[in-house]
Amino acid sequence: MRTDQFPPDIRPRVVPEVRGDYFYRCLGCESRFGIEKLLYTCPKCGSVLLIEDGEWDELKKTPGSKWREIFDYRRMLNIAGLSGIYRFHELIGSIIPVEDIIYLGEGHTPVVAAGDALCEWAGVHFRFKNDGQNPSASFKDRGMASAFSYLNYLIKRRGVKDVLAICASTGDTSASAALYASYLAGNVKSAVLLPQGKVTPQQLSQPLGSGARVIEIPGVFDDCMKVVEELSENYPVALMNSKNAWRILGQESYSYEIAQEFDYEVGHLAVVVPIGNAGNITAVMAGFLKLHDLGIINSLPAIIGVQSEHANPVFLYYVEPEASRRKFRPVQVRSSVAQAAMIGNPVSMPRVIKLVERYRGIAGEDSVRIVEVNEQEIMDSMLVANRHGHIACTQGGECLAGVRRAVAEKKLDPRRLAVLDATAHALKFAVFQEKYFSDTFEPEFEVVPRSELKNAPVSLSLPDGVPNPKNGSLDPEQFREFVKYASGAVAGILNIKPGGK
Ligand SMILES: *Cc1c(COP(=O)(O)O)cnc(C)c1O
Ligand SMILES: [Zn+2]
Repeated sequence: MRTDQFPPDIRPRVVPEVRGDYFYRCLGCESRFGIEKLLYTCPKCGSVLLIEDGEWDELKKTPGSKWREIFDYRRMLNIAGLSGIYRFHELIGSIIPVEDIIYLGEGHTPVVAAGDALCEWAGVHFRFKNDGQNPSASFKDRGMASAFSYLNYLIKRRGVKDVLAICASTGDTSASAALYASYLAGNVKSAVLLPQGKVTPQQLSQPLGSGARVIEIPGVFDDCMKVVEELSENYPVALMNSKNAWRILGQESYSYEIAQEFDYEVGHLAVVVPIGNAGNITAVMAGFLKLHDLGIINSLPAIIGVQSEHANPVFLYYVEPEASRRKFRPVQVRSSVAQAAMIGNPVSMPRVIKLVERYRGIAGEDSVRIVEVNEQEIMDSMLVANRHGHIACTQGGECLAGVRRAVAEKKLDPRRLAVLDATAHALKFAVFQEKYFSDTFEPEFEVVPRSELKNAPVSLSLPDGVPNPKNGSLDPEQFREFVKYASGAVAGILNIKPGGK
């Protein structure tokens, strides 16, 4: 819709203006730093940062009902920069002019209801939000759209040039960073550090295809992360991990979309996310808190974070009920099918601790729960979901395993409606399906295939006398003979008899 067609009171606000006074805030010492320079950690105390808007309170002059109208009308705009996460421009990086926004089709991912049979299996009604339908097939594109839009703004308006964007990755961060960097080819080059043998072939193919320098490091993600941290502190590189607070800002769009999808009534929901480096759960909580602060939503949904017992530092931290006695300890990860979340020392842990405290302060102790699941549950849940019409990856399976556990352990009221983050597309993790179907999991995964969930192709072989298309083109008579034989054989395999349609 053209802007002149919007109602007169919406028209001036439907295309947002540049506004706000953004700064980095240190979560350790509370210092503030300007955003002209890319910062990842506090120069004073080394703690992680979040981005805040010094003019946030200005936004409160607009009532929540008005914000809801603005965002809903904005759905009808046909302006590329406002078609993705920046529909919520005022909340997500409003110092960036709309023309500078990089939009590659991210955001507004479908929310797909699970059918009755699957809900019964889970013990709760739920929907998947398919973040695997983002351009690089994972939710990471939300944060990258934000980080690279800001980078583009620095290039276009602040004379920044020759950027080397760098990240460590369990697979999806590098796919996403390389994609967005390649869109800015000419001004931005990218390099990604991957743990050798710990990303899937599909994930490896993505940054290679986007033209990134791909460097495989012996070790696990936590080791790669230490190397890029060292690089970002000593070399002129732009760090694209979620340590970069612009990533968090963009990923908040996930919560904004859920709010809009449910007409801003979210108090009855339980939003379920897998936890790896903990950037996503940070952003999800921050996003809902912001909406609540502006009166755009009136109550907060419950949040459930899920970890595998092979990579569970956040779960272990919250096992202790008494806040003052909790102590964070990194863990040594073990092989996990939820490989994208296989992280023992999450960079965003200080953010999680802060935000959980704030969230619980508003919505109650039970409003944020962390549950642990095992590898078998994760694999079985992914396969069961995908047998019921979904495209969940192993981390989406982890969410489903998590809600089942949460219901069983009475950490989730089954009258709630759960929204599960299907964080990536199933195809990225096809190797784990293959290991399951062919019973070739290495023992350390601790996954034993259940026969009823296995699947394999059946090869049809033709006896010698039957014309075979493999041996060259068939004449019409031979072809009929082949079709006749093959269809009979297929009917035999499917156990169907000739008869009415
Ligand atoms: C990155 C990733 C996660 C983990 O998210 P964090 O923000 O690191 O906690 C989960 N699932 C998929 C598919 C991912 O790519
Ligand atoms: Zn500090």
